[in-house]
Amino acid sequence: RQFLGHLKKEDEQLNSFITITEDEALADAHAADEQRAAGRATRWTGVPFAHKDIFCTNGVATTCGSKMLANFVPPYDARVTENFRKAGAVCLGKTNMDEFAMGSSTESSHFGATTNPWGLSKGEKRVPGGSSGGSAAAVAARLVPAATATDTGGSIRQPAALCGVTGLKPTYGRVSRYGMIAFASSLDQGGTMARTAEDNALMLNVMAGFDPRDSTSLDREVPDYTATLDEPLKGLRIGLPKEYFAGNLNAALEEQVRSAIGEYEKLGATVKEVSLPHAHLAIAAYYVIAPAEASANLSRFDGARYGYRCEDPKDLLDMYTRTRAEGFGAEVKRRILVGTYALSAGYFDAYYLKAQKVRRLIQQDFIDAFREVDVLMSPTTPSPAFIQGEKSDDPVTMYLEDVFTVAVNLAGIPAMSVPAGFVDGLPVGLQIIGDYFSEARLLNAAHQYQ
Ligand code: GLN
Repeated sequence: RQFLGHLKKEDEQLNSFITITEDEALADAHAADEQRAAGRATRWTGVPFAHKDIFCTNGVATTCGSKMLANFVPPYDARVTENFRKAGAVCLGKTNMDEFAMGSSTESSHFGATTNPWGLSKGEKRVPGGSSGGSAAAVAARLVPAATATDTGGSIRQPAALCGVTGLKPTYGRVSRYGMIAFASSLDQGGTMARTAEDNALMLNVMAGFDPRDSTSLDREVPDYTATLDEPLKGLRIGLPKEYFAGNLNAALEEQVRSAIGEYEKLGATVKEVSLPHAHLAIAAYYVIAPAEASANLSRFDGARYGYRCEDPKDLLDMYTRTRAEGFGAEVKRRILVGTYALSAGYFDAYYLKAQKVRRLIQQDFIDAFREVDVLMSPTTPSPAFIQGEKSDDPVTMYLEDVFTVAVNLAGIPAMSVPAGFVDGLPVGLQIIGDYFSEARLLNAAHQYQ
């Protein structure tokens, strides 16, 4: 009740929730009390949290930030939802996001933009980052201690950085995508957002694991991610990709990140410069591959199956075209057009196939780097949270916000963002990138710094 009261009051300004599930939460809290009384409590019993509105929740609206799904109530739970339910956690609602997770600012949501609580404390309307901006703002404002999120090209790490919270994007295949509404299937990965690395570890313990209902889920043992948090970092080899300390990087932000890395040296880590020679191609490859996959995934929203349908269609074609014209927002349409173009006969080889080849080179860069070092560190974003509206009518400027995050998704490796100080009163993030299935090591490194 205390969390719900705080949430309902504070969220009038933040708009970090699309749906608040007060009745369900109170019933679940009551059930948790009974579990506890019966001596059956887990570490999650009764713990309040929220789901990004991309995870299907049985009986509770799941909109993906879109008018297309504004009235969609799934008849089943995502695997991630199911896991939290089984653990006894209490979901307070569904958090706001860019429409279909396409964006870096949570401004493209059909349900209005989310505001960054750090900006508000300075009297300014700044973005929380995106697409998981609702989860990040909610955790930052202490509306919930933890929230789920997804990361296709940075959507966990970038909002975590801009809101001063800790977020983890796991290895592709570590967390089931079953019931997680698809954006770009070969890049999408569910993950965690909370105040500390320790809380992220507790979340990942619930979320990770094999799921036969997701064909790219990996059947691999899940360690207890909290077990290794306290291991000393002495001898940890840190690589600084020189391409990630260049370009339009904000100088004060760079200083904060370098001083965080200095703390690691004090903890006994060694630091050296490394190179990711194809880093400059990541944005271009990502913004071909992600829209291509999105154009295929979003073809299911046609007015015939579920979700929005236009009024009084004249015929079948009219239903398809008006449903999609009315149901999707501008950024989603842009992605569908770009993706359809890149996949069309005559252009497939020049764009999609080429981007896939570049993707392989980017992956190889990371494989080579991890022969020399254990983790890579860099800024999560080139600058702190920007003012709302500043980049929303210039898609390319918005896409450049993802310059340090998208390569990780193209390679399928895990990465975190950890709060690393402030620039002009706004939080900035340190990105820690690891080899496949190194989540425990990333959490350990983040925990030792915190
Ligand atoms: N900002 C990136 C995009 O718009 C990444 C989004 C995401 O990770 N879901 O595609």
